[in-house]
Amino acid sequence: MFQKSLITFSIFILLVSLAFPKTIVKVRYGIHKDKIRLVLDLSKPVKYRVFPIKKPYRVVIDIFGKRVKIVKIRLPKGFKYKIGNHKWGKRIVIKPYGRFKVRSFTLKNPPRLVVDLTKDKKFRFKPKFTKKVIVIDAGHGGKDPGAIGWRGIKEKWVNLQIARYLAYYLRKDGRFKVIMTRWGDYYVPLKKRAQIAIKNKAHLFVSIHADAAPRKNPYARGTQIFALSYRSAVKKKREIVRDKYYAQLLINDGGAYYRNTRMILTDLAFRVTLEESVEFAKILAMELKRNLRREVHFKGIKRAGFAVLKTPGTPSVLIEVGFITNPREARKLMSSRFQKRVAYSIYRAILKYFNLKEKKFS
Ligand SMILES: [Zn+2]
Repeated sequence: MFQKSLITFSIFILLVSLAFPKTIVKVRYGIHKDKIRLVLDLSKPVKYRVFPIKKPYRVVIDIFGKRVKIVKIRLPKGFKYKIGNHKWGKRIVIKPYGRFKVRSFTLKNPPRLVVDLTKDKKFRFKPKFTKKVIVIDAGHGGKDPGAIGWRGIKEKWVNLQIARYLAYYLRKDGRFKVIMTRWGDYYVPLKKRAQIAIKNKAHLFVSIHADAAPRKNPYARGTQIFALSYRSAVKKKREIVRDKYYAQLLINDGGAYYRNTRMILTDLAFRVTLEESVEFAKILAMELKRNLRREVHFKGIKRAGFAVLKTPGTPSVLIEVGFITNPREARKLMSSRFQKRVAYSIYRAILKYFNLKEKKFS
């Protein structure tokens, strides 16, 4: 008799579990630039409530339902939590390491509850370190040899060698994402090079070239740096405001913006380019003078309208490392020792520009 009722009871429990399956909850997180996102993966949709409590600051997530089971909770470092069992369901009380604004919503397929914790002005959390995107542009290439120098040296070779060394230092450093407009001997149009910088939202664009002088002046010498001129920026701005492709590329304008909005956004982007390019050029000039003083003469920073400098939103410089028509400088430009030193000077300038400490390479 007793056994029979036990069996009946067990069957009853089994039927209940089949009719009312448990809600399984798993908590995971993602750290983004502007927020911490908590995601509750659910085995089925739930009724819920999310709210903050002050003093001490906590975030409460209530999940309603009789058969809620929390199987896994992963939270960012420094976050603490407690789970409370209630008649109506489960309460997760999270104690984050700071104050956040709380926003929550649900998603279907599969069911999820998303809780976004965004920065409160009074509190700043450490953003995940994002690599600086550096676009290195080795001038010329392929069918375009660039200048032809002393004993037939082709500029495109010199440029590529220095660019490769610079990429090597930046990659070895580990704090940069390096993109090269070309990594071999092939042709890339000028406009395309600037667009690579814009598309990748580069933090910096460095174009590497070597100078040449007419035959009658074989002793022209020196390094110089170019940043975008104000006049060229104004011209380019007009072009971009008219050009749909550029507007799309630069300001994600799918044709939705008014002309005025486009103008303002383009203007802002160019302000960055104009001001920051000169800022970087100054630092680069200092590094070149310091490291190469005895080897090449430094001629200064100039403004120009080269196509590769027209990179709205990205600071850009073009460096002419020396004259390949000058026998003395040509010999240096062909030596890997000198190429490495130029690349290392540029690398150091990049560190300074981003306020990064120098790493000792072994
Ligand atoms: Zn060139």
